[in-house]
Amino acid sequence: MMKECRFYKKLDGVGRYAANTVMCELCPHCCIISEGRHGKCGSRWNFEGRLYSVVYGKPCALADDPIEKKPLNEFHPGTRCLSLSCTGCNFRCLNCQNHDISQVLPSNVDFYELSPLEIVEIAVKHHLPGIAFTYTEPLTYYEYIYDIAQEAHKRGLWNILVSAGYINPEPLKEIVSFIDAANIDLKAFSDEVYQKQCGGHLQPVLDTLLTIKEAGVHLEITNLLIPGVNDDEGMIRDMCRWLNDHGFDDCPLHFSRFFPQYRMKDSIPTPRETLYLARRIAEEEGINKVYLGNI
Ligand code: SF4
Ligand code: SF4
Repeated sequence: MMKECRFYKKLDGVGRYAANTVMCELCPHCCIISEGRHGKCGSRWNFEGRLYSVVYGKPCALADDPIEKKPLNEFHPGTRCLSLSCTGCNFRCLNCQNHDISQVLPSNVDFYELSPLEIVEIAVKHHLPGIAFTYTEPLTYYEYIYDIAQEAHKRGLWNILVSAGYINPEPLKEIVSFIDAANIDLKAFSDEVYQKQCGGHLQPVLDTLLTIKEAGVHLEITNLLIPGVNDDEGMIRDMCRWLNDHGFDDCPLHFSRFFPQYRMKDSIPTPRETLYLARRIAEEEGINKVYLGNI
């Protein structure tokens, strides 16, 4: 099951690009992908000059989760959802807790083969009122989400997006009309940290937050505080100030505790005091709903 991607263009005959080269326009990386190769996320492959989603219909993880685990604290609390993910991510976070599925190619893991309709039927069969696209970076399996989300709405299920929000505006605007709730990671209020820690940039994520809010989707934001990386008081204050200035004062903000893992095993867990300090700063800056996670 491979599906031709949306949001790409052929670069045949453009400048010095080899025949059959394409540019993926789904996320801000805008990968130039030559024939037989894949983009940074590992999910989108160039086959004979056409770009295909090779994870379409191949979820590597399915689970029944409480909605608070996403985390979503103010969207139908007490309910559960069908969590789903495929391999791949367009970030390279040094602290990724799901690196065994986010930083591998689909051929390196076991996966199910399930059509969008079959996914929805699993949720219905298990009386789960929503489907959460989560664990890795869902936006890299955009076409699969898009088709599942439409089927889910036909059956009255919610669609929940748990994402780092690194996507271009046009595809985002199209998918948000099928999303009922989102939790977006705001990893740091610093472009430099985004570059060093994740391999991306800050501004597209801020743009994603604004687009989701304007679309009226229920939105919660998570900021994982990592010692020495993004726990600077000034950075936390600047982030909260930006959120307040841009109308996110009533948007739930989750400060989450980091534990050493992946390429940051030598780090220390976030001291609890850092989380309490972050909450105080957020409240001082006018953020009304602050939650602490992983404590
Ligand atoms: S979605 Fe993947 S292939 Fe497309 S631009 Fe982003 S990283 Fe590259
Ligand atoms: S965005 Fe999430 S899934 Fe992707 S590398 Fe970072 S922590 Fe891992």
